[in-house]
Order: sequence, then structure tokens, then C-alpha cells
Amino acid sequence: MDITCDGIVIRETLYGESDKILTLLTGAYGKITVAAKGVRSIKSKNSSAVQLFCYSYFELVEKDGRYTLKTATINDSFYAVRDNIECFALASYFSDVSNTVCSENNDEREMLRLILNSFYAMAHLNNKPLWKIKAAFEIKCMAANGLAPDFSSCAECGKPSVDSTDRHGVYIFSPGDGSPICPECLLKKPRNNIIPVTACTIDAVKYILSAPQSKMLGFTIPDNDNLRKEFCDFCEKYLCYQTSRRYETLAFYKSVAAM
Ligand SMILES: [Zn+2]
Repeated sequence: MDITCDGIVIRETLYGESDKILTLLTGAYGKITVAAKGVRSIKSKNSSAVQLFCYSYFELVEKDGRYTLKTATINDSFYAVRDNIECFALASYFSDVSNTVCSENNDEREMLRLILNSFYAMAHLNNKPLWKIKAAFEIKCMAANGLAPDFSSCAECGKPSVDSTDRHGVYIFSPGDGSPICPECLLKKPRNNIIPVTACTIDAVKYILSAPQSKMLGFTIPDNDNLRKEFCDFCEKYLCYQTSRRYETLAFYKSVAAM
């Protein structure tokens, strides 16, 4: 059976003399693995549309649940993402996360839109700093997978979180619970993994959660290195905790990023 779909190449493995195994993120079919024969040959008409991070229109042949590539046509190559080492590293991390959280035969339209919006911002919006794109991706990705943090109340006693700061006005967030913990409950039931955050981080995360994807980069953080680091650390630690993974691609991004 032939199928057609738009999808983004989130992973490629080279094999044979001129073949590739592609992992595509599509909307309706979710994550799919596709054998792309001959695409590394200079004669191949499909070679440019199956490059890593390309968003293309694919014609595939499905047989017994396995897909083979028939044709591929570029929608957006996101060339600028591959052309800059920081963008390349961040796109690799986004792809790695998507490969972890997305499934086969699952409606992944929201995740596909998110990765497209994030690549678009990197490739075409020069005024958007990468740390903003990274943080917005991390929070929106959690929300798309039903794992959004909830700042409304203490995870243990349910006391509104506005009353739950410690004496310095700092909230203690428990990534395992996905919510803040008030100082009294933390004392009664200590947790190893906690993230102290101030109101500015919470406000920015709440903005990202409530904004449509087209406006997700519209949040503001005061021009202060410590506050920016606190916010970025929160978004990253929350995603890593919730997906129970360490990402080599994240370590790579950090090694090349000018933070
Ligand atoms: Zn409590």
C-alpha cells in the first residue's frame, strides 16, 4: 500500500553503499522508520529531501508494517539549521527528545508542529536567541505529552502555591511531582530532587504553557544572568527528569553554545 505524508527527518543511519534508514516524525502516522535505498548516490533524485532536519513530502510504500521510500520533495530544508554548529546541536537535541517521547501509529501533530516551529525560529528568525527557543520547546514538549508542570498548589497538602514560598520568597519545585512543595511538607517528607525557583521563572513557564505555539517565544525574563540561568535550568531539568533520560545531544549543545 502506498501512503503519502509530510514529515521531518529526525534521525538518519547510513547503511550499505548508498542507503539510509530514516526516522521520520509525521503528524498522522507518528514516528516511522523508512528504508531509503540509493539516496546517497549522486544520481538519486531524493537525496536532498531526505537530509537530516529536512521537512519534506514523502511517498512511501508500506508492506507488513515496513516502509520504503518512493519519492521525497522538500517543503523546507532548514538549511540554516545545519549550517550553524549551535543550531545543529540544538536541533539534534530536539530530534533526540522527539524520538524519545513520540511513538509509532500515534497522532503526533502537536509534536510535529512544535519541532517545525522551533526549527523555523532557528532557521528564519534571527532575532530569537537559542536559549529561548530551547526553553519554549522543552515546556511545550512536556505539555504536548500530558506532562505540563502545575504551579497551582503544593503537591502534598494542596495549599495554594502563592502561600508556599520559603522565607526568602523562593518556591521549591519537585520535578517528580510536577508541582511545588510547601516548606512544611518538604520538612515532613524530604525529597532528593528539588528545584528552587523564583516567581519570574514560574511566570515565564506559565506564559509558555498558555500561549499558542505561534507566540510561545513571547515571554520575558529580566535582563539578569542568574534569573535567565534559573529559568533555563528549570525547563531543562524538568524535561530530563520527566523523560528519565540523559541526552548526549544536550551535552553536545552545551559544549558548543555561547551561553
Ligand atoms: Zn504542603
